[in-house]
Amino acid sequence: MVCLRERMKMGKRSEWVAFCFLCFSLSLQTIQGYKESETARTLKLEQGDAHEVHCSRERSKAAWKIIEEYLMPFVEEERYQISRRCRLHSDNDLYRDQEQHKIHVGVNEWQCGYCRKRFYGENYLDQHFDNRHYDLLNVSHSRCLADICGALHCDLVMDSVPRKTKCNPAAAAKNQHLCESLADTCFPVNGGPSAGRLHEFFLRQFCDAHTCTGGRKPFSRGHRKTRSIFYLFASILTLMLLALFYIFIYMHRRGMKGGTVELKRISKSVQKKKPS
Ligand SMILES: [Zn+2]
Repeated sequence: MVCLRERMKMGKRSEWVAFCFLCFSLSLQTIQGYKESETARTLKLEQGDAHEVHCSRERSKAAWKIIEEYLMPFVEEERYQISRRCRLHSDNDLYRDQEQHKIHVGVNEWQCGYCRKRFYGENYLDQHFDNRHYDLLNVSHSRCLADICGALHCDLVMDSVPRKTKCNPAAAAKNQHLCESLADTCFPVNGGPSAGRLHEFFLRQFCDAHTCTGGRKPFSRGHRKTRSIFYLFASILTLMLLALFYIFIYMHRRGMKGGTVELKRISKSVQKKKPS
């Protein structure tokens, strides 16, 4: 009997221990859950703030335009692959994915590539991206292309920015430093012959002009030549076709006139012959 009582006591004690353990684990889970929900909330808040990210879309656009026009043709010519470590790589443009989802339907018609909504102007589509698709932006501090605008001379391709007449030596030195660091990371001198050539090219094309002494102009090595040649060829062809069209119309009208004169002559001769 004593044994039985002791066993029952032991059983109750073990049940009590199990109950305590369960309570403890449950409270731990709730705390963890709370923590998780809290982190999720902070993440959401962070994502919510993402569309107020301090990265100018306009300046990023200008930087990309410069990269595309004044750098990429030469990089392609060398068949060189820019690494992701390089800030000029398309993956380091916060807005690249959104820009690639812009569909220019007509003169005043733009379409969102994510939800197919249409807009009258590109600026409205930009606003739509900011309001509706900000969650698609991959936000991290090093991905803002606008941050390297100083090195790439973005102001020169932006119409809205008033040109500064006075040169600031400190700003010029800072931009030159940034420019040279871009050349070093994107086209390392020890990265092979093409990287070496592109490194030299980058310094001449972008970095040399960051000086207040003047004389050197940015983009001295020119831009995408193939495109300008294509446009020249296309415009010459259009002019030739237009000239041919007018010559054809002129000849056709002349031919018609000649025909009517002949007809008039024939009818006159017929009228003269009739009375006899
Ligand atoms: Zn959309």
